[in-house]
Amino acid sequence: MSERTEVSSLGEFGLIDHLTKNIEIHNASSILGVGDDAAVIDHFGKQTVVSNDLLIEGVHFDLMYTPLKHLGYKTVAVNVSDICAMNATPTQIVLGLAFSNRFSVEALEEFYEGVLAACNQYKVDLIGGDTSTSQKGFIISCTAIGEVAPDKFVTRKGAGKGDLLCVSGDLGAAYLGLLLLEREKQIYLENPKVQPDLEGERHIVGRILKPEARVDIVDFFTTSHVQPTAMIDVSDGLSSEILHLCRQSKLGCVLYEEKIPIAEETKLAAFKFNMDPTACALSGGEDYELLFTVKQDDYEKIASNADISVIGYMTDEEAGAHIITKGGSKHPITAQGWNAFKQG
Ligand code: ADP
Ligand code: MG
Repeated sequence: MSERTEVSSLGEFGLIDHLTKNIEIHNASSILGVGDDAAVIDHFGKQTVVSNDLLIEGVHFDLMYTPLKHLGYKTVAVNVSDICAMNATPTQIVLGLAFSNRFSVEALEEFYEGVLAACNQYKVDLIGGDTSTSQKGFIISCTAIGEVAPDKFVTRKGAGKGDLLCVSGDLGAAYLGLLLLEREKQIYLENPKVQPDLEGERHIVGRILKPEARVDIVDFFTTSHVQPTAMIDVSDGLSSEILHLCRQSKLGCVLYEEKIPIAEETKLAAFKFNMDPTACALSGGEDYELLFTVKQDDYEKIASNADISVIGYMTDEEAGAHIITKGGSKHPITAQGWNAFKQG
């Protein structure tokens, strides 16, 4: 049996000290961190980008199949992803937690191990937070802060007609990973003696449990002197994010199904679930890749990065947002892109 230390044995301040004692500071901009009434940051002439996300047990995560360490990592990763989507460099996070007495000191330690692993991975500093109790479940509020050279931040509304529509990494895997974990949970609930069968599904399970923020893509933009014209991170599925870019930039687009990057493992998993891999990419979500537009002049630079795919281009608003299927037919993109497209 593993040990269980009650949070009450440390008290609130003892717990905060315990959880924050291993924090390492990576940024000169973190002037004052944990331990005072507020933190102090100085971005030395750069602009500051701020974003917050709430993660609620039972709504955003299920602890039956989410290890706490992974949850800690994911908390930081999804917040850092929002900062990346602004073309900014993440520098700090502030973490508010509320948990019921079901959570022991050991459980919270595990969560913080994941948080600090992600802080090291992305070179961000945990500079503060708040700790409280909840009547039920685990509630996480994370604020991420980043820096960007003046006016280099990228919004959702700057795309121009003819700009190339691009996406990093591969899509659709996290959704299939979630389906798989949900299926194994049901099997377990019906027969707790059955061990989960996740053999050969590392990619899709990894993508849902341990997503990564694309800090490397933002670094690539800086070093290769590419200024995206619009950008968003893919948290709700490709079609929904494309529609955000179109609506806010007042444009239409053409998306080529054959250009959507989908990993081989994702295609195999989709076929096992009797699903269309493209539908998973369009409507799945939780990929945390970057969807962005660039000027056509930047094509060569973008093409030099094997981890970026050009998937379409921006058109007049009147032309609408469409997908050209592998078979060559044209369908409007809807928030559930695959609906229209399956009937078609
Ligand atoms: P206050 O009562 O002024 O809100 P707290 O006792 O809540 O102060 O916090 C003391 C210090 O610990 C602050 O610097 C705060 O930012 C930090 N802190 C509190 N909870 C957490 C947490 N869960 N993770 C990281 N830092 C925390
Ligand atoms: Mg407080």
